[in-house]
Amino acid sequence: MYRPVRMFSFASFLFMFANPVVAQESAARLHTHIRSANSRLCAVIALGVKVSPTLRTIVERIESSDVITYIDMRLLTTPGVAAQSQFVNAAGGRRYVRVLIDSRFNGTVLLGLLGHELQHVAEIAGEPSIVDHQSVAAFYRRTGLRSPVGGANRFESAAAIAAGRRVMNDASEHASDVNAAVGRAKQGGHE
Ligand SMILES: [Zn+2]
Repeated sequence: MYRPVRMFSFASFLFMFANPVVAQESAARLHTHIRSANSRLCAVIALGVKVSPTLRTIVERIESSDVITYIDMRLLTTPGVAAQSQFVNAAGGRRYVRVLIDSRFNGTVLLGLLGHELQHVAEIAGEPSIVDHQSVAAFYRRTGLRSPVGGANRFESAAAIAAGRRVMNDASEHASDVNAAVGRAKQGGHE
C-alpha cells in the first residue's frame, strides 16, 4: 500500500456533465510517456495537442522526460476535486504518475483539466529530486500552494492553474471539433 500525495485541480464551479464512465477494456497508447486505455481521453488528447500550443508544449516536456503517466477517468467524490495527480513510484529508471479525471467532465472543460494535471506531471518531470511521496510533498511545500480543497497533503501550483485555463481557452476556439472528437470516441467503443 502506498499513501498517495495528491494535487489537484479545478473546483466545482465548472459545469458538470452526466456521462458515466463504463468498462475500460481497450488499451490505446497515446504517446510513449502518456498512456490511457480510455477512448474518450485518447480522442481528446490527440485533438488537444493539435489545437492547443500550451498542451503540446506540456506533452513534449513529458515525452522527453523519464516520467510515464497513466490517465484514467472515474467518478471523483471529494468535494471540489475535479481531477488529481498522484506520484506512484520510481523504478527501473522511470518515474510513474497517475492522473485521474472526474468522468462527469467532457469537451473543452475536460481538455482544460487534462492541461492542468499534465502540467503537474511536467513539473514532476522537471524536478529529478522527486522520487517518492515525501519528496513530492517537499517540492510542493517549497514551490506550490496548499490546495484549498481535499485536505492535508494536497497541493496546487500557479503554473497548473494557468495552464488549465490556457488549454481550455485554446480548445474553446475549436469547441465543435473537440465535441465531435469526443462524440466519435463514444460511438466507436470503450470508454
Ligand atoms: Zn493542480
